[in-house]
Amino acid sequence: MTIAPAIDQASSEPVPAPGARAPLVDPFGRKISYVRISVTDRCDMRCVYCMSEDMNFLPKHDLLTLEELDRLCSALIARGVTKLRITGGEPLVRRNIMSLFRALSRHLASGALGELTLTTNGTQLAQYASELAAVGVRRVNVSLDTLDPEKFRAITRWGDHVKVMAGIDAALAAGLEVKVNMVALASVNENEIVPMLEWAHGRGMDLTLIEVMPLGRIDEDRVDQFLPLSLVEARLRDRYTLEALDHRTGGPARYVRVGETGGRLGFITPLTHNFCEGCNRVRVTCTGTLYMCLGQDDAADLRAPLRASASDELLHGALEEAIARKPKGHDFVMERSHPAPAVARHMSVTGG
Ligand code: SAM
Ligand code: SF4
Repeated sequence: MTIAPAIDQASSEPVPAPGARAPLVDPFGRKISYVRISVTDRCDMRCVYCMSEDMNFLPKHDLLTLEELDRLCSALIARGVTKLRITGGEPLVRRNIMSLFRALSRHLASGALGELTLTTNGTQLAQYASELAAVGVRRVNVSLDTLDPEKFRAITRWGDHVKVMAGIDAALAAGLEVKVNMVALASVNENEIVPMLEWAHGRGMDLTLIEVMPLGRIDEDRVDQFLPLSLVEARLRDRYTLEALDHRTGGPARYVRVGETGGRLGFITPLTHNFCEGCNRVRVTCTGTLYMCLGQDDAADLRAPLRASASDELLHGALEEAIARKPKGHDFVMERSHPAPAVARHMSVTGG
């Protein structure tokens, strides 16, 4: 079944949700319209910058159930959230995850939700792409750091390159817009940025480069992994014409058009370029902890109010209290004098 959203997801203003309440606005006047929600901390890969090889995962009862996730997302939509990104861990390894996508698609159909999307490592996409498209998902972000299967194995430890490529093919065949996310890693994949760009743009996909962020302890040294994208951009300018674009996806990326390929290239540079000013986002972990800022530890527990009452009154109160504490900006640093991660939790916990 194809559900046609009542609005053009890219350009029109979503209509208010039934039972809509006052929007969530932080003390700096930023309206919270974008939520990333992690549905699991588990993953079928172990990317070197994201996880250590032997991770301890959460017991199942700590995780929000799919019904609780639906309640929480619906409450957020009632408060003016128009863009939901489902992430993880790897969201598509959560059992029965499609039932959540199917349930949330009612908000696309009503027009209250402008966009429902996900970030995935792509390993399960071949199986789910057409169903995702059928419930109203238009775009997916697929993380892929290299086109070289051996290097892919080294970066992801457990990943199967063939499966990810098949996943991307399936997503494109299902009519999904695909954006490739590539974490730029010094001396690991920096010589692959040009081939990746040519490949992605050749297939009609955007490419976004991401700087390694200091989140969670891993087995390796992130200072050695860190490649400033200001340097990458300068190198790319020697080869390509990069024209600044106003294009915004509601996320932190800054985009340019590559004249020679006609494609879009994004840069997510939390360390060399502060993106906090226009931040309209919050993140929710798979245990229902709301982080008002990716780079800070302050958080609010939404699971307790969800579980304490079948009505959403406590939940709305907790949301209002939390958003009133959203900080102006983050505290990331990446220097040898700061060897510990700025934030102790892993990206797979907060949700990328
Ligand atoms: N498993 C899915 C995936 O890999 O796309 C979704 C979750 S993953 C945590 C989301 C994104 O975060 C991925 O693009 C990944 O490359 C990125 N990521 C993970 N750890 C990171 C880190 N320390 N610094 C920068 N990006 C990171
Ligand atoms: Fe898994 Fe995504 Fe983290 Fe890689 S980046 S280990 S795929 S959660």
